[in-house]
Amino acid sequence: MRRQLKNGLLFLSVLLAVFSLTGCKPESLVSQSQEIDIGRQASRDIERQYKVSADSRLNAMVNEIGQNLAARSDRPNLKYTFKVLDVKDVNAVSLPGGWIYVYKGLIDEIGGPGNIDRDKLAGVISHEIGHVAARHHAQMMGRSQLYGIGIGVLTKGNTAQWVSLFANINLLHWSRKDEYEADKLGIKYTYGSTYDPNGLIEFLQVLQSKSKSEPSRFESWFRTHPVPSDRVGRAQQYLNELRTGSR
Ligand SMILES: [Zn+2]
Repeated sequence: MRRQLKNGLLFLSVLLAVFSLTGCKPESLVSQSQEIDIGRQASRDIERQYKVSADSRLNAMVNEIGQNLAARSDRPNLKYTFKVLDVKDVNAVSLPGGWIYVYKGLIDEIGGPGNIDRDKLAGVISHEIGHVAARHHAQMMGRSQLYGIGIGVLTKGNTAQWVSLFANINLLHWSRKDEYEADKLGIKYTYGSTYDPNGLIEFLQVLQSKSKSEPSRFESWFRTHPVPSDRVGRAQQYLNELRTGSR
């Protein structure tokens, strides 16, 4: 046991030394096929726990917007899947490898299936694509390996733990840095598309105002996506920079 620990510590210190020399990023410890494998399994779990909306037109619309934006993302070659979950909360989630779910409560918040604000929906979807494209899930898994915290090196055994973490959609919690980056990417992908990049900013404003009057419906969003008060301002600033060509 002691020898194992010693070997483990030695391995970790060598690993850290190598990474600090090469400037290696934690996400590079997780391959794309591992991401896809974990995402696929988590998506099956989620679709067992929650009902995918039976509204085929609504799913088709969400998928069409999603595919258009994913093709403009930094990972256009991933196979993305977009579906609506019949959950009343206002939220949207992403899984490693390209599975993205929008909750029906969010659809209803921005006009409902018959009168949806496509720009706001595109903003939310592009933010989720941003998490996938920036490999935030792989970063989370890689950091955990690198520092030996939480779940360790990806093996067959603990792949199941990651699957259950990602399938437990209300437990996942992004850092502020991840949120800022996903907002930025969301704006980047909608900018120059057929959707107005202001859609994401307007959605963030809806969140800020409505969450005070109806906190319970927004609880799950804030648990998974922290909203610091400067998030709207930062997103607006980034869009202005894109428009004035300083980016
Ligand atoms: Zn987010």
